[in-house]
Amino acid sequence: MNYRGLSIDELHALLVAKKVTPLELAQEVLALAKKDSNNAFEYIMEKEALDFAASLTEPEENNPLWGIPFVIKDNFSTKDVPTTGSSNILKGYVPVFDATVVEKLRAAKAVAIGKTTLDELAMGGTGTSGHLGMTFNPYDRKHERLVGGSSCGSAAVTADGFVPFALGSDTGDSTRKPASYAGLVGFKPTWSRISRYGLFPFAPSLDTVGIFSRNVKDSAYVLDVLAGHDDRDFTSSVKPVDEYAKDIEKVNPKAKIAVIKGIVDSISDKVVLDKFNETVEMLINAGFTVDFVEIDEKILSSLFPTYFVISCAEATSNNANMDGIKFGPYYNGQTFEDVVTQARTNGFGELIKRRFIIGNFALMKENQKDLFLRAQKNRRVIVNAVNDILKEYDFIYCPAAPSIAPKVGEKSDRLSNEYLIADNHLVIANFAGLPSITLPIGTKDGMPFGANFTGRAFEDKQVLQMAYELEKHTGFKNIVAKGE
Ligand code: GLN
Repeated sequence: MNYRGLSIDELHALLVAKKVTPLELAQEVLALAKKDSNNAFEYIMEKEALDFAASLTEPEENNPLWGIPFVIKDNFSTKDVPTTGSSNILKGYVPVFDATVVEKLRAAKAVAIGKTTLDELAMGGTGTSGHLGMTFNPYDRKHERLVGGSSCGSAAVTADGFVPFALGSDTGDSTRKPASYAGLVGFKPTWSRISRYGLFPFAPSLDTVGIFSRNVKDSAYVLDVLAGHDDRDFTSSVKPVDEYAKDIEKVNPKAKIAVIKGIVDSISDKVVLDKFNETVEMLINAGFTVDFVEIDEKILSSLFPTYFVISCAEATSNNANMDGIKFGPYYNGQTFEDVVTQARTNGFGELIKRRFIIGNFALMKENQKDLFLRAQKNRRVIVNAVNDILKEYDFIYCPAAPSIAPKVGEKSDRLSNEYLIADNHLVIANFAGLPSITLPIGTKDGMPFGANFTGRAFEDKQVLQMAYELEKHTGFKNIVAKGE
């Protein structure tokens, strides 16, 4: 039997009925992983997965994740398992502890199958900058199109149906954008809702653990396990958690939804726009209020520059420990500076270096006021504008991306609104720490594309309910790339 492409509920039913064992499932996924020709894996946890799966012998009816296979983006620490962040600077690094999310999933008896490729150190949105090469979109077997990033491997493996869910991370859109390109649900919960202990920091004021799945409810199951305070991450919230999966059907029938007009107006692809408008009609017909609202275009076109200054500045400071002494391969040298310079010159790729230069430049004493502090102030202006909308509306709803996955090397005009606004608006949820979910709504030329709901902070449950509701109307879920 072939278990590829099944959802958590479907696998759970088979596991509980003992029609398949966790070990058989793990074996099937491992076989697929070993044949993977898409550079989706940094490391396949064969022995770990087989040993753990073999220990799961008594099915737990009330534990939906029991025996369910999943994969982990390679910027989460895994004890005794190499963790590289897809960067040469961490070649050979084997953590001595598990990230809290990894520990929690293991406690829930989900079976980790492997570590997945990312854009180097989670910086990027293409899936092309990992140290081992590119990861492509599984919907395009010619391997010409991007799957997006930075969580490229997790997105590819889930879209390919190997596993029903995967861990990603989301600093600007790294879970929600690849989800749009790969026909997936990509969920970034509220900042602080999930512990980040053991997640490599990129820009901690924005970083969030992300979840990929092929339907909305599966993401709710995973959040049920991951949400909650962690003594080892003092930025994790102490607010009580909700019952995300149990209440998934209880959407507020009077919910009010705002579509940001400036985002939609920046999109030129007619297929994406028509399908998006069709979903707006579905929401209206289902009884929800949907209004098109404005945010000042100046604010919208400042999203990306603001994100870039803040994220590069934070990344620069957070990666200062990658010096060849504390972390990274050691190079012999005459002086401390020489040792560090060699390690960093050899360890980081071009894109990372460029970002560190920008980050350092923004943080230099003479530039700080004009760049870093100005970006911080602008972040507040953005957040205020968004929170004003969320005073009146329960959700913001927009196309997740302006197009289907671009081809490798396809260039967009970086000063156009299509790029500055439509391609980068998902950072809004990171700036404001809001829960935000992408779900598939349509296809063009066989390639999927998605839309995105963002809600108020700590209304993760409501965001999942709303997405679940739309998923019911589109019927577009559990889609799997038809792989070889
Ligand atoms: N694409 C964005 C960037 O380049 C987002 C990355 C992320 O969310 N980790 O930084």
